[in-house]
Amino acid sequence: MAFSHLGLSEKVISAISSAGYKTPTPIQDQAIPHVLARRDVLGIAQTGTGKTAAFVLPMLTMLEKGRARARMPRTLILEPTRELAAQVEEQFIKYGKNHKLSVALIIGGVSFGDQDAKLVRGVDVLIATPGRLLDHSERGRLLLSGVELLVIDEADRMLDMGFIPDIERIGKLVPFTRQTLFFTATMPPEIQRIADNFLHNPVRVEVSKPATAATTITQLQVATGRDPADKRETLRNLIRSADGFKNAIVFCNRKREVALLHRSLLRHKFNAVALHGDLDQSARTAALDAFRNGEAKLLIASDVAARGLDIPAVSHIFNFDVPHHPDDYIHRIGRTGRAGLTGTAITIVTPIDGKAVAAIERLTGQQIPWMGAPAATETHESRPPRPERSHGERGHGKSSHGKSSHGERPHRGERHGEQQPRQRADKTGGHATKPRTHKERPHHDASEESDGSHLPAFLLRPVTLKA
Ligand code: AMP
Repeated sequence: MAFSHLGLSEKVISAISSAGYKTPTPIQDQAIPHVLARRDVLGIAQTGTGKTAAFVLPMLTMLEKGRARARMPRTLILEPTRELAAQVEEQFIKYGKNHKLSVALIIGGVSFGDQDAKLVRGVDVLIATPGRLLDHSERGRLLLSGVELLVIDEADRMLDMGFIPDIERIGKLVPFTRQTLFFTATMPPEIQRIADNFLHNPVRVEVSKPATAATTITQLQVATGRDPADKRETLRNLIRSADGFKNAIVFCNRKREVALLHRSLLRHKFNAVALHGDLDQSARTAALDAFRNGEAKLLIASDVAARGLDIPAVSHIFNFDVPHHPDDYIHRIGRTGRAGLTGTAITIVTPIDGKAVAAIERLTGQQIPWMGAPAATETHESRPPRPERSHGERGHGKSSHGKSSHGERPHRGERHGEQQPRQRADKTGGHATKPRTHKERPHHDASEESDGSHLPAFLLRPVTLKA
């Protein structure tokens, strides 16, 4: 089907053809007519399927009627991360070039005052991360009672990041009669519950099962030692010898690991940028721009920071750490092999990663072939974590729950570089953070941590069991 049959306005159709799109993607084909018919939509789709345009295009068409009032946005899009929010804004600018709509981005890490000034002038489209949105609302600077259309994007990632209580609060601030579009890549029970709460008689649109990895992606795993220095050496060798290498995203499980690996790669003269929740907004934007325009060949990222980012034509994905959640593996490798291009995803596997790899293989229904000899298996319990050789980094210890043991946010002002003296990490007993109570709203940046473990420091110390 062509775009012209979906019921979109002339202005939107003209912007789509300038963008060079010939045919709608399946999610656009299936969702757009229902959105225009003012139905609630439950969209099960990953990034890369064209889901953003599936809501942006009909919204633009609908917003052609009516006008914005001060502090009362007409539509609201909730995104889990600042980058995703910024990406949606870009799409509004691209597809809305024939419209005179006002779009505001309400995200953490940028000036509150500028955002407020924009809200006063009245906005048609508000794109926001939940925490900052509630800050504005609680200060009485924003009224959500005029919202006609609410989009909840990447709902499953909102759940991972602890944003569901915020989303529920926002749900109480928007009118009951609004239209809701709800997008998620996976449908765990908690997301189903939220969807049932938010949606009225929705049309369900599902474009591809989250557990299907694109067939254009060659997946491989490579064995290495458990020591992070071994892993880094393996990664360097993989990058140097990668067939058809153009650029790559290297995924780590924790933001601290992202920073460490980034520094190490720079020392080895690799052209790399890093993306993690501790960077301020301008550093994040600069890193992404450098990677997008080809200045940097490697982007080192955590799952949350990289989630949903639209980076076309990545030739390689390297999993420096095997992801804790098999769903993340699908999302990670989906960053390559896009739009019919081929890609390669290589996972670095240590002797303790056997279970995590098996979980991925169960989910995808495919065995990941080994490059070279398979890793010897070892359980977490059979050997205490080995201390890292470089300064200031601890071994890959895991808690008894199998969760990462040091994924926490560093103390303010503290940087865990390899140059940091070792005594410091030892003295502080790691990077303790206060356990979060259910009532506390996650800090915007803290919530952009990938594994969400918040354990007191004493629980994180490696324990050596006597025989
Ligand atoms: P998304 O899934 O929204 O992250 O979109 C993934 C990419 O697909 C973005 O770069 C879009 O610009 C692009 N895209 C969206 N719709 C189409 C389409 N109908 N034809 C070609 N590319 C598209």
